[in-house]
Amino acid sequence: SGSAADRLARLADGYLVTQLLHTAVALGVPDALARGPRDAVDLAGELGARPGPLHRVLRGLAAEDVLAETGDGRFALTDTGRLLRTGVPGSLRDWVSTRGELYFGAAAGLPTAVRDGGTPYETVHGLPFFAHLSADASRLATFQAAMADRSAREAGAVVAAYDLTGCSSVVDVGGGRGTLLRTVRDGLPGSDVVLFDLPEVVADSDLPAVGGDFFAEVPAGADAYLLSRVLHDWDDDAAVRVLCTCRAAMRPDSVLLVVEAVLPERAADDPAAVRMDLYMLLLLHGRERTAAEYAALCTAAGLRLTRDVPTDAGVHVLETRPA
Ligand code: SAM
Repeated sequence: SGSAADRLARLADGYLVTQLLHTAVALGVPDALARGPRDAVDLAGELGARPGPLHRVLRGLAAEDVLAETGDGRFALTDTGRLLRTGVPGSLRDWVSTRGELYFGAAAGLPTAVRDGGTPYETVHGLPFFAHLSADASRLATFQAAMADRSAREAGAVVAAYDLTGCSSVVDVGGGRGTLLRTVRDGLPGSDVVLFDLPEVVADSDLPAVGGDFFAEVPAGADAYLLSRVLHDWDDDAAVRVLCTCRAAMRPDSVLLVVEAVLPERAADDPAAVRMDLYMLLLLHGRERTAAEYAALCTAAGLRLTRDVPTDAGVHVLETRPA
């Protein structure tokens, strides 16, 4: 609601909201308020912060309905704010940290990238995205935790939408922390699963795991391969190379499930997919794609797209088989 000017002013302040959320998470405000409402002085003492500025940040979060003011100077979590707690189902805590900590600086490079080309994240950090993550254990952990936050929201919907019954071996290529694979395994008792990702990502996995490079080789001969939110990270040439590596590992009767957002015809029909496409522009050399574009990548890799199965969580399961 409000005038066009109000709406525009609010959009222009989006960066501030990102940093309000990030500040709350970085200081531990949501976990502290989960133990009960507090005022800024109490919270500041508990969290080692300055009461004056903290009070203003808490008010900023209350203005966004992330916190509620109890009327006696204390602040409590709203339903939205509760999702910033650590380790609760549906938590977006690490999702927020990636925005505030990792992506925020790159976003300032968008005008230059649009005018002159280039990938803002690489310009700021001097390294490609995944190499920069791997150079710092805590940064890598934040990113992987954010992927797991999102995957936790999607995995149930993916498994509900696509029936993997009959598959007794599944490899999740670029599977991160294995959130999707764990859900798949739980629905396929007795199946063999393998989590495949960079060695530093799978090092501490509690799932059977193989570390490697999906441009070189992935474990061969499984009934089903998963490729969730991987192709969107890469330009067409690299995406086809990943698909070719998977194709080479597949048996003629294996299936490869590409789990991705599919770009809508009109941006307003799926704003989240369109925003994710902008992240690909800021961070990587990738892009979100339409179903027809995914089909073309598959064809170039000796695969054919046999089904496009939407899920309740926004992502689609694109079923592909050797051509
Ligand atoms: N599949 C997970 C999901 O759906 O949340 C993670 C998706 S994340 C956007 C992309 C994954 O690709 C990361 O876990 C990253 O470590 C992995 N990755 C990047 N380069 C890789 C490579 N060369 N070989 C294997 N994995 C790689």
